[in-house]
Amino acid sequence: MTCDYITLATTGVQGLHPYQAGKPIEELEREYGVSNAIKLASNENPLGASPLVTQALQSGFKDLTRYPDSNGFALKKSIAALHHVEMDTITLGNGSNDILELIARAYLTSNDSVVYSEHAFVVYPLVTQAVGAKHIVTPAKNWGHDLEAMQAAICEDTRLVFIANPNNPTGTWLKSAELKQFLDNVPEEILVVIDEAYAEYVEEDDYPNCIEWLSEYPNLIITRTFSKAYGLASLRMGYAIANKAITNILNRVRQPFNGNSFALLAAEAALADQDFLAESIRVNKEGMTYLTQQFDEMQLSYIPSVGNFISVNVGRTGGEVYEELLHEGVIVRPVANYKMPNYLRITIGLPEENQRLIAALQKVLAKLTA
Ligand SMILES: *Cc1c(COP(=O)(O)O)cnc(C)c1O
Repeated sequence: MTCDYITLATTGVQGLHPYQAGKPIEELEREYGVSNAIKLASNENPLGASPLVTQALQSGFKDLTRYPDSNGFALKKSIAALHHVEMDTITLGNGSNDILELIARAYLTSNDSVVYSEHAFVVYPLVTQAVGAKHIVTPAKNWGHDLEAMQAAICEDTRLVFIANPNNPTGTWLKSAELKQFLDNVPEEILVVIDEAYAEYVEEDDYPNCIEWLSEYPNLIITRTFSKAYGLASLRMGYAIANKAITNILNRVRQPFNGNSFALLAAEAALADQDFLAESIRVNKEGMTYLTQQFDEMQLSYIPSVGNFISVNVGRTGGEVYEELLHEGVIVRPVANYKMPNYLRITIGLPEENQRLIAALQKVLAKLTA
C-alpha cells in the first residue's frame, strides 16, 4: 500500500476516534470467563420493553422483504398525537444520534463553530468534528451546563448550540426559567438543539416541556429517543421535533430508509403502552434511591441525577475500578473521556442488579484500598 488512506480522509474525520460503546455482556463473558454478568453501562431499560412491542414485532415479519415506510407515517402520527404537534415537524432517525448527525451535516461547514458544554454527551464533539466545524467548549457549572458561559461563548461564526437536558453522563438538568432566558438571548439564526434523551424520567416540576416552546423559538430542535425509557435501544429509533423548514431540511439529508420497519412498529407500540413507561420510571426512581443511599453509606460522593444513571466518584481512577468490576461480572461505564477520571457512570438496574453492583463495588474498593 503506497497510499496513506488515513491522510486522504477529510481533516475533520482524521481527528475522530471510533465511539467507545459499553461492553456487551457476551464479550465480557467470552473474554473474562465469567457467567451471569450484568450490564449497567449503557442506560438501557432494565425492564426491557413493553409486551406490546414483542407483539408488534411479530406482525412485521410478513413484510420482511419490503422496504420500510420511508415517511414513517404511522409512527409520526403517534408522536404527533403524544406531543400535540403537526406531523411535518417530526424527523425520524436511526436512533437520535442519527438526528444529531443530520443536523450537523445539514447546517455546519468548517467555517462554523458549535457551542457545547464540558462533560456533555460525546456525540456532540463527534458530529461537530466529523464535518470539520470548530468546537467551543464551555466550562461546566456544578457538573451541568453553564448557560451564561454558553451564551457568552457564542460568537460571529456560531451556527449551533448543543444542550442535553438532562445531560449524560452527569445527570444534571436545566430548569424552565434558565433555559428560556438563554433562548431569549440566542439570535434566531443560531440553532439550539435540546437533546431530551432522558426526558421521560424527569419528574421535577420546573423541568421544561421544550416542545411547547417551538412556536416561540423557531431555532429550537428537540430530540427524543426510544432507546432509553422505552427500552428499544437495539432497534435504533429516535426523532426530532422542529419547525417545518428545519424538518424539511433534515429530511433532505436523511437516508430514505433510516428507520427500519421493525423499529417503526416497535416504537409505535411502545408509545401505546404508557403504563409500561410509568412502571419503568417507578423502578428507576426506586433504584436511584437505593443506590444513592448505599453510596452515602459507603461515603462515596455522586452527582445528583434525574436520569436513569448516576455518576459516582470512586475516589481513585475509575478505569481501575471498572476493570475490577468486570472480573466480578459487572459492567459499568468509566467516563475518563468526559474529563471525569475518578467517576463511574452506573445505569440504574433492577433491584437485584443494583444490589449486585453495590456488593461488587464494596468488594472491589476494599481490595483496591487494602
Ligand atoms: C443515549 C443518548 C442518546 C440517544 O441515543 P440513540 O440510541 O441514538 O437514540 C442521545 N443523547 C443522549 C444524551 C444520550 O445519552
